[in-house]
Amino acid sequence: MKKILCFAIVALMFTIATVSFAYELDGGSFPSGNIPYVINSSASSYSSEINNAADMWSDNTNVNLWDASDFTGPHPYWTDVVADEYGYVGWDGSSSMSPGWGQTYNIGTIELNETYISDYGFARIKLVTCHEFGHILGLDHVDSYTMMYGNDVWDAWLENTDLLHSPDQDDIDGVNSIY
Ligand SMILES: [Zn+2]
Repeated sequence: MKKILCFAIVALMFTIATVSFAYELDGGSFPSGNIPYVINSSASSYSSEINNAADMWSDNTNVNLWDASDFTGPHPYWTDVVADEYGYVGWDGSSSMSPGWGQTYNIGTIELNETYISDYGFARIKLVTCHEFGHILGLDHVDSYTMMYGNDVWDAWLENTDLLHSPDQDDIDGVNSIY
């Protein structure tokens, strides 16, 4: 009886581990993991949160997201970060890719919705931005409490407070599988 119970617990743990280590890719990527981002003047008041969010990926994965806001040279691809009052549209951050999801990207755009984030503190704006950077790196949503949690990264953070300091190992593995 005891042996059977132990086996059941081990089997259950293995199942949980398998689920929590899943990541989803959208199939696209930048030509390399050396990716500049430009903070538009509309988002300059969130520069600290944006830079912190980018550093979380650069410090923990193979990619180098670097602030090119003052960079004057040409670069074949980059990501813009903009902010505006988009209204109560159901999202606080969004991302889009040119020429399209699942392709080789030349321009990514992250939009921060000030209608929501003007009420957020530093931590939440950082988490929203980090989630959107995850998309432009090629990650899709997952159901587990990682940076790429599909509903709201704030809800993921409530269950997984380490997300304030680093993407989850699942997120990291996903990015490192691409770059
Ligand atoms: Zn998302």
